[in-house]
Amino acid sequence: MRATPADLVITGCTALVHDEEEQVGFRQDAAIVVRDRVIESVTSAAAVRDLPALQRIEAYGQVAMPGLINCHTHAPMVALRGLAEDLPTEEWFNDVVWPVESNLTADDVELGARLACAEMIRGGVTCFADHYFHMDAVAAVVAECGLRAHLGEAYFSSQGPEGRERSAEFALRHRATADGRITTALAPHAPYTVTGTDLTATAELARAHHLPVHIHAAENRDQTDTSLARHGLTPIEVLDRAGLLETDLLIAHGTGIVARDLPLLAGTGGRTAVATAPRGYLKFAWPTTTPVRALRAAGVPVGLATDGAASNNSLDVWESMALTSLIQKSTEGDPRWLTSRQALHHATLQSARAVRLGDRVGTLAPGRRADIVLVDLTGPHTQPVHDLAATLVHSARSSDVRTTVVDGRVLMRDRQLLTLDLPAVVQELGRRLPALTDRSHGRRIQEYDT
Ligand SMILES: [Zn+2]
Repeated sequence: MRATPADLVITGCTALVHDEEEQVGFRQDAAIVVRDRVIESVTSAAAVRDLPALQRIEAYGQVAMPGLINCHTHAPMVALRGLAEDLPTEEWFNDVVWPVESNLTADDVELGARLACAEMIRGGVTCFADHYFHMDAVAAVVAECGLRAHLGEAYFSSQGPEGRERSAEFALRHRATADGRITTALAPHAPYTVTGTDLTATAELARAHHLPVHIHAAENRDQTDTSLARHGLTPIEVLDRAGLLETDLLIAHGTGIVARDLPLLAGTGGRTAVATAPRGYLKFAWPTTTPVRALRAAGVPVGLATDGAASNNSLDVWESMALTSLIQKSTEGDPRWLTSRQALHHATLQSARAVRLGDRVGTLAPGRRADIVLVDLTGPHTQPVHDLAATLVHSARSSDVRTTVVDGRVLMRDRQLLTLDLPAVVQELGRRLPALTDRSHGRRIQEYDT
């Protein structure tokens, strides 16, 4: 036993662990030792009884699991939560969201990011992949509040070459900042808003600078049909033609991925990942969902996401996990598909891979960064426990998360946020909303025309 105290010891919990085949399992009466922001060991509570520690958390009745990862969101869009309801995708963009986003300032983005980070920490999210504008403001909030994030400055071709250049400049300047908690990506908006020339240039930038790319593509079946009619290519084939399937690519949604796309995606050997955010697909009444079973068969990691709260209404990845399991069962007509253990695999290792952090987080194991959440299962809705995986996926809620730890730092303890002042954020955001939501000017930042 080492003489210097550990930074953090969590004892008495049940720990969600993965075996060598990546099967999800649970270790009872466990302890987790954290030193220098890294998990030093996952051991028995008895083994650490006398271990000196700067901070100890007694977690009896709680499950320790890897923090959830929101693999695709637009965090500052929490400011638009509930503003564009019960609309088809085209009207949602053209009549509300894109007119409002033409008012966005860096201050709005910062406030939205603060609110979003508070929501995510409270919901057990320890890392998020963000794709938005004024991303310097989001990076500053991430650095301050202690979350981990994979950030990209979004751009449209309508912004001219400066959009693409700004995205690359952001990615290079912020890469590996905030003690390594911030990683970055190039962030073209989508194949229907970014030209083939810009997509090709983005793939070249990605290769030249070893940067991943985060993009919306084949979001729904309509987009695939329109792309076929216009170019004779599916959106995935457009990405392939631009060279983007040779980069580390994160595709948001993919509910319009069709059978002919699968060999292309399989050919990426896991370098292409897809983020699924099923709540929005239900809300927009899209006819299909992310083809998770086919993507898994093609070796494509599928991470869980919420998309922005303007469509999803929350940044609750816990809900995305339960919905993914339910919608996959329903879509495949197979109650045996996407079991709770599979859902937890998506929530942990696959989500970590989707945001290019597969070697750093996603599992509670020695050497991984200490991104840990503690979930209280003593509530009436989670008792009794016959199958712990099912309890976590289908009975527990994000509000059962009691403690959130990122990189060894406790960001929430016993539901108390330690790094963000939520009432102040809500009050200041309220003052800004009239200017932000004004649509009388008739401008839009972009036109939705797939
Ligand atoms: Zn999105």
